[in-house]
Amino acid sequence: MIARRQLLTAAAGFAVLAVAAPAAGQNNAPAKLKVLATFSILGDLVRNVGGDRVEVTTLVGPNSDAHVYAPAPADAKKVADAALVIMNGLGFEGWMDRLVKASGSKAPVLVATKGIKERKATDSQGHGGADPHAWQSVANAKVYVANIRDALIAADPAGKRAYEANATAYLGKLDALDQEVREAVSAIPADRRKVISTHDAFGYFQQAYGIEFIAPQGVSTEAEPSARDVARIITQVRKQKIPAVFLENITDARLMERIAQETGARIGGKLYSDALTGDLGDATSYIDLIRHNMKQLTVALAS
Ligand SMILES: [Zn+2]
Repeated sequence: MIARRQLLTAAAGFAVLAVAAPAAGQNNAPAKLKVLATFSILGDLVRNVGGDRVEVTTLVGPNSDAHVYAPAPADAKKVADAALVIMNGLGFEGWMDRLVKASGSKAPVLVATKGIKERKATDSQGHGGADPHAWQSVANAKVYVANIRDALIAADPAGKRAYEANATAYLGKLDALDQEVREAVSAIPADRRKVISTHDAFGYFQQAYGIEFIAPQGVSTEAEPSARDVARIITQVRKQKIPAVFLENITDARLMERIAQETGARIGGKLYSDALTGDLGDATSYIDLIRHNMKQLTVALAS
């Protein structure tokens, strides 16, 4: 939970600093539009549309989970500092409304999923009914980009042409990415387009591209599975003829080997869902994240 008093203190402290700070644009470089994005994937989309006219700050960084994020006092300052705030919505950042209030920010808040056809979450893991992971469909990411473009133009009309040009170029890349994923999926035999996964984040991906993500039955996705859980998974994999398993919460290599040996299923690599990786990882951008996941699925599901 947020320590509200701490946030308020931080925001108040910032107000004093803001008065003392020199006015923006005193030097010759034009002041950049300060944009706050709630998490790393969204931050990447905003950077692609904003280009060098914007300075993007993110709250939930790479490799971090926005679902369980607890804002720090410094985050209220980041929000107060921004001329435009961009969030995912669909219940992804349950802590955000309170943080914006505590910051005292009057900046416009864009919900980047505006206009997206939302799907219901298949579980009740704090997603409040809607599945927030809309970016897992590239077509949805294009809606985010259009919303971001329009919000940047509204906040900084002088940059209209730049934002439009950046968005058009990036939308072209997303079209190519969407096509790439479709081609990769079509190369997988239709009866092999399913995996067991403990992630509940790929519903939009499944809907868009037709690879089925099946939750392991009766297995907690939180804890390290027991020997009995593994036996259940083995039964399920055999019964449903699932060609590959992506079970990142099984850290015991012997259990994974047992599943592979007894079912013949392949053990998939890491799939990224809610965050980019740091600079040295496999998913430093949204496009790389989708590409990485598709590669893992292709390798695991090829006949
Ligand atoms: Zn998630």
